[in-house]
Amino acid sequence: MNPEETAVALRGVHRTYGAGPTAVHAADGIDIDFARGTWTAVMGPSGSGKSTLLHCAAGLERVDSGQVLLGDTDLGTLTDDQLAELRRMRIGFVFQSFNLVGSLTAEQNVALPLRLAGRRPGRAEIRAALQAVGLGERAGHKPSQLSGGQQQRVAIARAMVTRPEVLFADEPTGALDTSAARTVLDLLRETTGHGQTIIMVTHDPAAAARADAVVFLRDGRIVDRLAGAGVREVADRLVALEA
Ligand code: ADP
Repeated sequence: MNPEETAVALRGVHRTYGAGPTAVHAADGIDIDFARGTWTAVMGPSGSGKSTLLHCAAGLERVDSGQVLLGDTDLGTLTDDQLAELRRMRIGFVFQSFNLVGSLTAEQNVALPLRLAGRRPGRAEIRAALQAVGLGERAGHKPSQLSGGQQQRVAIARAMVTRPEVLFADEPTGALDTSAARTVLDLLRETTGHGQTIIMVTHDPAAAARADAVVFLRDGRIVDRLAGAGVREVADRLVALEA
């Protein structure tokens, strides 16, 4: 693995909603490279384009112009089916609300992406994924029998089981108390140690400060970037943007 390699790149990305005088430029010329094995937090006021950036980078939404590259793959050249396949095989997602399937056990939830990919996962593989998030003993529990923090750890195990090139996290600690949030952030940090790339949208300066870098959006543009910043510095920068 080349540490200088780019995992995801956005080149001149534009995404506009609506037309004419009421058009909203949710992405207004975004240029950014996310290096492999790094963790980037995306922050900005409400409506600044964080979700749009995440959705475009993850191939959930098409761009109007510009390029999104996952490794060497230009997402704009893919059909919808190919894009869905790419999301399934090369990208992992973690959401604020966990999005686990309530009727399935932790183990079955983690096995789901492999089953969707047409594989018949071995029990040992799934147990190992749950053990990696400290939940080896909870394999048979349904989401309702787990705390929020535990559910999010299952969601991380499910996202990581396909060994995706990039993990996209949308407010992963937004529904968690401080202690559970810290455990989840510790886990994310651990995955980057194994070369995982993480792109995370968050409102929480404490979560953002755990990332390697924080990029700040306003009006669909990247307006600032901090590397190795503390919680206070991140919070101050965000407040300045919201002013
Ligand atoms: P953030 O995640 O930072 O709150 P979004 O990316 O959700 O920002 O939205 C950026 C801008 O684009 C906002 O003004 C929002 O209202 C607008 N927007 C987002 N999605 C849509 C949509 N599907 N239709 C119309 N406008 C949208």
